Amino acid sequence: MHDRDTNFFYPGEKLLPDEMRITALGTGMPFVRRRQASAGWLVELGNGDKFIFDLGTGSSANLNALGVPHSLLDKVFLTHLHIDHFGDMGALYGMGMVRGRFTPLRVWGPSAAEERLGTAAFGKAFTDMMAWDIESRRGVVSAGTGWKTEFNEFDYSISGHTIFDENDVTIRAFPAIHCIDGPVSYRLDWNGLSMVYLGDGKPSQFMVDNAQNVDVLIHEAFVPAADYARQTHLPLQIAQNIAHGVHCPPRSAGKIFDLCQPRLGVIYHTMISESLRIPILDDLRVTWKGPAALAEDLMVLNVTKEHIIQRQACVPELAWPAPAHTHGQKRPAMERNKVPQMSQWLKDAEIAVEGVETNISDVDG
Ligand SMILES: [Zn+2]
Ligand SMILES: [Zn+2]
Repeated sequence: MHDRDTNFFYPGEKLLPDEMRITALGTGMPFVRRRQASAGWLVELGNGDKFIFDLGTGSSANLNALGVPHSLLDKVFLTHLHIDHFGDMGALYGMGMVRGRFTPLRVWGPSAAEERLGTAAFGKAFTDMMAWDIESRRGVVSAGTGWKTEFNEFDYSISGHTIFDENDVTIRAFPAIHCIDGPVSYRLDWNGLSMVYLGDGKPSQFMVDNAQNVDVLIHEAFVPAADYARQTHLPLQIAQNIAHGVHCPPRSAGKIFDLCQPRLGVIYHTMISESLRIPILDDLRVTWKGPAALAEDLMVLNVTKEHIIQRQACVPELAWPAPAHTHGQKRPAMERNKVPQMSQWLKDAEIAVEGVETNISDVDG
């Protein structure tokens, strides 16, 4: 621990075997900003496991900058199907396959009041939508079964049921109160450490039932209505409809922290600006006096039983992909015969350039 930089997290830093690392990939709203992508979190465990919780619009740029091999990013847990929570899934699916995820992209998410609104229907539509992207790339790179998706829909209405149990990691889901039926929150437990994540929603009894004494509780918190009205020139009532009616002001998140007593309460999913940090934290302090963090993109939390350390990741603006964890091993064979080929009349119009070999072949071919 002591040889780590105390101020910043640099990509490549090793996790201790008993440690959990939580990184904010996106802490903003659907209105994506250069400094604030939409919702996304990466949870890495000392046993080598990695989990993505939501991957909203813009958040994959932060994910890529962390230097985590895409070959290890095969598990995504969606809280709900708002674009600001799944907007970069296409990039993860397509690029993961190219970058060495030779196994299916596995996604978990809730059902809804109607079948067409559930994660299974979403997964089918998503996979169909991505067909051209995936099949066109499959003809150029070897992908194993990375071209496949596996969507696991579970009942959104059950509070605290286990929806993932592998490698001593347990993930439970419970309902969240947000817009219409369907949204959930997650609780991850491993090695005596725990993390609870509410994507969007209002304070609820489900949270109180499932997040008692958790180590890190990540909860949404909207800009206080009066500040939001001033900042956006909306009438106060409209600002309140949004901030309180569908979302949750900081003091409501604070109320949940007070009822659950986490070691650290994290608020996110807000619009940060220099003038709003103090009002946001002041509003949180109305109800929560304990340890708190206002998350910004690329905030890193190192969690052990002894301490929780908050730092900011220092990442390259122009990151290159990290090598796959299987780098150097034999890649699976390409399966060009299983995807559509370009028509001959298109190929015939290509202009040959001396010194440029344009035939596509396998690594060993
Ligand atoms: Zn939402
Ligand atoms: Zn949201």
